[in-house]
Amino acid sequence: MATLTDDIRTSAAQFREFGACERPPRDEDPALIARIRAQVDRWGERLVILAHHYQRKEVVPFGNFIGDSYYLSKMAAQQEKAEHIVFCGVHFMAESARILCRPEQHVYLPNLRAGCPMADMADDVQVDDAWEWLGGFLDTETVIPVSYMNSAANLKAFTGANGGLICTSSNADKAFAWAFERGEKVFFFPDEHLGTNTANKMGIARDRRAIYDPLHAPDDPGPYERAQVILWKGFCHVHTNFTVAHIESARRDYPGIKIVVHPECTEDVVNAADACGSTAFIDKYVKAQPAGSIIAIGTEINLTSRLADEHPDKTIFELSGQNCPLCVNMFRTTLEDLASCLEHLGDRGHDKQIFVRPDVARDAKLALNRMLELK
Ligand code: SF4
Repeated sequence: MATLTDDIRTSAAQFREFGACERPPRDEDPALIARIRAQVDRWGERLVILAHHYQRKEVVPFGNFIGDSYYLSKMAAQQEKAEHIVFCGVHFMAESARILCRPEQHVYLPNLRAGCPMADMADDVQVDDAWEWLGGFLDTETVIPVSYMNSAANLKAFTGANGGLICTSSNADKAFAWAFERGEKVFFFPDEHLGTNTANKMGIARDRRAIYDPLHAPDDPGPYERAQVILWKGFCHVHTNFTVAHIESARRDYPGIKIVVHPECTEDVVNAADACGSTAFIDKYVKAQPAGSIIAIGTEINLTSRLADEHPDKTIFELSGQNCPLCVNMFRTTLEDLASCLEHLGDRGHDKQIFVRPDVARDAKLALNRMLELK
């Protein structure tokens, strides 16, 4: 039976076949652009569009705010005048914006099929099962859940209700430090690799980490009793594409090259790179390199491709060469989706509007606000 991961890899392979990876297709249909501009003018300050760095190149310029999920969640929480917040990103991002903004504001995701396979690798039943199992031999009062932003609202609510907080790839180390001030162990989900790279950054010994695989629930409590961090076995199929062989090959071909990767990459890739950080970090890192630099980037292809366009004085390319690090979900949102979403703002029963159950939103907001208050 084909798994979710098989489906994703098949989609990526199809993209590779028609050459989309070298030059992600760009739809610059003037009629669509005019339809979007007309709606932007019509709504003025009553509309805010948030655009994630991985969105299609033609969608990004319509963002009032462009950034990573940390920055965009902060912006969502700060919009005083907006009646309508349109999130060009994936589902968990729009849900987070819904949770953080005021009840009378409306939040939309222009393409409802834009999910995050990594976020789907942990669901509420699995996390409840894991928590119950851990509770069989640990005092869960001393275990602080830390949930990656890439998780469903009900998992953020679980985290908030159990004294934990949300993190993004910008602040995972600060979130872990916050948790260790309040408990003895961190239970982190759903990205094993961000968790591992954060544990490395914080100097947490290897034998004080345990991986929890929801598909093969463990039966030996020993490693979990000893662990300081318990890491969910989830991953991002885009970032786990990059390998140390790609880095070695880039260094061989381009002596002096700088390599920057995202912390959802595997530990060996992060260790072999020159720098590692969130998409906001990668953006700043590229800007800070002098003209003439050669830079390979280990993250989603649309950001890499946009950075290459923005810095013609530098040679910038994606690290894997042929592996197509495309997030097909981020790629789902088209100009047509955005235009159609905007043209129906204010309609009763708008079919792209995002809702979160009030009790779920209340607990999830606790966890999100703890992140936003991190110093
Ligand atoms: S790049 Fe990876 S983590 Fe980010 S939305 Fe896509 S699948 Fe999810």
